[in-house]
Formats: sequence, C-alpha cells, structure tokens
Amino acid sequence: MPRLSSAFHAHRLADAVNSGSCAKLTENRVFGLRRHVPPPTDMPLHTTALVLFSGGQDSTTCLADALSKYERVETLGFDYGQRHRVELDVRGTILAKMRERFPDWAPRLGEDHVLTLAALAQLGGSSLTEEVAFAMQADGLPNTFVPGRNLLFLTLAGALAYRRGLQVIVTGVCETDFSGYPDCRDDTMKAMQLALSLGLERRLVIETPLMWIDKAETWQLAHRLGGRPLVDLIVEETHTCYLGDRVHRQDWGYGCGECPACELRRKGWERYVAAAVPADEGTTSTR
Ligand code: ZN
Repeated sequence: MPRLSSAFHAHRLADAVNSGSCAKLTENRVFGLRRHVPPPTDMPLHTTALVLFSGGQDSTTCLADALSKYERVETLGFDYGQRHRVELDVRGTILAKMRERFPDWAPRLGEDHVLTLAALAQLGGSSLTEEVAFAMQADGLPNTFVPGRNLLFLTLAGALAYRRGLQVIVTGVCETDFSGYPDCRDDTMKAMQLALSLGLERRLVIETPLMWIDKAETWQLAHRLGGRPLVDLIVEETHTCYLGDRVHRQDWGYGCGECPACELRRKGWERYVAAAVPADEGTTSTR
C-alpha cells in the first residue's frame, strides 16, 4: 500500500538522520546534495577562521584577507626542522605589527599556535630540511618539495580547527605561479576538504585566496586589503628566501635575490610596481 510504504520510508529516513549512522546521508551533506533552506543573506555562513601562517608574503596576505572577512581569526605555524628558522622568527613580529598598525583588525586577531612536526626532517631528501643545494629532481619538481608536507599541515590544521571551533582553514597555496607542488593544487585542496569534513564529521571549508592569482596580483591584493601600510609591512617583515637571507635588503624585501623564491618574489614585485604607478598617482594608500 503506497501510503504505508511512504510512511515507512519517512520513518526510516528520520531514524537515519537522528542517529547520524547513515553514510550516504553524511556523504550527501558534504557534497551539499540534500535540499536545504538557504540562510538569510545577511547571516554570514562562516565567521571564524584558522590561517596557515608561515611568515611569508603569501600567508601574510591570506591573514589580512581573513581579518577583513571573519570575526575571529587564529594563526597556525609549523616547526618541521626547516633549515632556516627565520620564517618562524618573523611570525611574531608580523602579528605584533598587524595589531599595532591595523586597529580594525586587532580585535579579530586571536591566538597564535605553533605545532612541531619533526617527522618531516626525519624523512629527509629536501633542500628545505637538509644542507643540500637547490636543484630540480628527475620528476620535474624542485628539491624544495617535502612530500606530503601540505597534507600533514592541513590534517593538523583540521584537528586544531575542530578543537578551537573554527570553521574555515585558509591557506596560501597557489597553482598559478609556483613550483608545481602537487599538494598545493586545487584538486588536492578539494579532496582534503572532503576528507577532513568526513573524518571529523564537521563541515570544514578550505579557502585558498591565492589559488588562481600570480605573485604580482598577490601584491595587488595586499594593497587592496591594507593599502600601502600593509604592502610596507609585507616588504619589511615577511620572509620568502630559501637561503634564509635577512642581510640583503632588496626593493621587495630581504633575501639573497638569487634563489627561486627570491626570483619569484622580485618578478612579481616588478610587475606590481609597473602596473601600480599610473593607478597610484596621488593615492599611495587606500587607507
Ligand atoms: Zn633567496
């Protein structure tokens, strides 16, 4: 009898939803396939974020982006036995200056976390963790590649976001203008978002503001977010150089000027400056 049958199915469906034991429903929730009533447009879906913050140009720009959007933002760095600890050292300075120079953002900027990941150095084989010169590998990747690094970072970020009740994980990975690391690609990010959301049974969003922009556009984004004061802070305080050089001051910040990271930062800066001059005449700051 049709009526009994549909009542039975409705009952089973309610049981499955209430018990949370139905894998198919869980999967559908993650993919957003179930029909739902959208929230009112003035209600933000997400208000809290955890930013993977290394102390470099990209993650500092991502932090500014998150502070411009979210009510509470926490930061996460990793001590994984990197050869040059200067990135870890500059993090505190950047956070302090963010608070000091951007009073609108200061109340939103919450706790900073640093987790240790000694296993990455134990695995070896990368010029980021060992005293070997930069070189290209046979597989076409630079030997700065630390296999699985971002997968581990995101897994730990997911665990910390769970503990801290944060909804969005922000990372500065980019497909456009970088070394082709497979764990920085958009597909990897989407797969990690799904894996974390299922494995933690909590909806986590991985946000990648830099995924499709190049280094010149990353400087432009910083300018839009915080004007010249933010660009100046990024130039002066962030660190990108693979050799850990904080001695040589270039137009675009400190660095050896020779390594691939410096070269990328310099080329982006030059394109940004060339494009910014006409638009900036008379208005060096948006703030
Ligand atoms: Zn360098």
